[in-house]
Amino acid sequence: MPWRTARGIAAGAAVTVLVVLLVVLLPVVVAAVGLSVARNVRRMRAAASRFSCRTCGAVLGAQALRRADEVWAAHMRELRGKYPAVRWRVVRHVHAICPACGARYRWHERDGAFVPCRRDC
Ligand SMILES: [Zn+2]
Repeated sequence: MPWRTARGIAAGAAVTVLVVLLVVLLPVVVAAVGLSVARNVRRMRAAASRFSCRTCGAVLGAQALRRADEVWAAHMRELRGKYPAVRWRVVRHVHAICPACGARYRWHERDGAFVPCRRDC
């Protein structure tokens, strides 16, 4: 039987406690992230239903969010198709596209508002 020092026993206990905490807290963290994402999507939908396009004056609405989702998904497919070996770390910069005129907006989460994209998005 191998000899175990007090330091070795303490380190083993600490690892056990950390593993138990990880197993117990992981579902809580995953649920919290899911709730946060759902809350942000609700806020974005609500803001889109009130926001008037700065170019044409039309209300963005849910259609603008869907259109941006489609455009972003196509953009990501294109990137993955062109550079299949690249692991992308991309920050989404288009969250709404005006269904009337095509003006693009970025969601500013902290302010809970849409801001027009610069020329490059
Ligand atoms: Zn517009």
